[in-house]
Amino acid sequence: MPALNTNPPWLKKRLVTGPQSVKTGEILSSLGLNTVCETSACPNLNECFSNTHVTFLILGRSCTRSCRFCSVEKGLPQALDESEPYRIRDAASRLNLDHVVITSVTRDDLDDGGAGQFVKVIDAVRELRATITIEVLVPDFQGNMDSVDKVLSASADIFSHNVETIRSLYPSLRQTADYGRSLDILRKAKSTSKNQITKSGIMVGLGENEKEVLEAITDVSKAGCDILTIGQYLRPGEANLPVRRYVLPEEFERYRKFAIDLGFKYAASGPFVRSSYRARDAYNAIMRGSDDRSETAAYS
Ligand code: SF4
Repeated sequence: MPALNTNPPWLKKRLVTGPQSVKTGEILSSLGLNTVCETSACPNLNECFSNTHVTFLILGRSCTRSCRFCSVEKGLPQALDESEPYRIRDAASRLNLDHVVITSVTRDDLDDGGAGQFVKVIDAVRELRATITIEVLVPDFQGNMDSVDKVLSASADIFSHNVETIRSLYPSLRQTADYGRSLDILRKAKSTSKNQITKSGIMVGLGENEKEVLEAITDVSKAGCDILTIGQYLRPGEANLPVRRYVLPEEFERYRKFAIDLGFKYAASGPFVRSSYRARDAYNAIMRGSDDRSETAAYS
């Protein structure tokens, strides 16, 4: 096992840069939009931007929580921006997106946690064309199921909520979140409509062991979740938790197979997998049918 201050060979990402990556960044910046790709220092940024795949970050740049693995800015939240839904619609149009992924900072300061803004963004993007598909990755809204319902009522094609880590690490890594509450949100989304595609993600390398990851995968499966992503935690900055373990590619593959055997319709597991990584592929595979589940080899 390599020293934890140097990335192992399987975590050396081929740098994919090109004109489209630059153009994607320019369009986003000209519209004053935030992406989690940039704010989280995602290692896949150049690859995704080159393929015009972005994950919009709504409700400002400042998060009201302090999860220790996350590099999104903490601090005073910004006022709601009425123009944000339309700027995202413009970006989706100029980038010719066919699958739009939207997430947000956590806004515990707002009565609805920002659910209303999710709905406005979904509605605005839908105006572009009937065939566009939309994926939302929502925070836990402090367990406010009215907010969850509000977002679900807008009928995004994929409703996603990440459990992020195993149950026992919540008190040390996510003091203001709750593992059971996150599972409840996934359960609620599926119970609202069996046709609602649901998705969740887990990071590994934060101090958990394999047995605990398998338990978390099982919990998410029991919550009726359709899509699972598992990726390596990488320290985004000095202020964040150090990596506790680099998970071997073969262990990622064991997680993927375990998830598929449990009944997930799609599972992606690999060092660079993030919940929004190749999100369009996951959606397309599900729509093509369950035979494609085995296509989801670990990404590297
Ligand atoms: S994996 Fe997700 S967050 Fe990272 S660059 Fe791609 S779309 Fe953005």
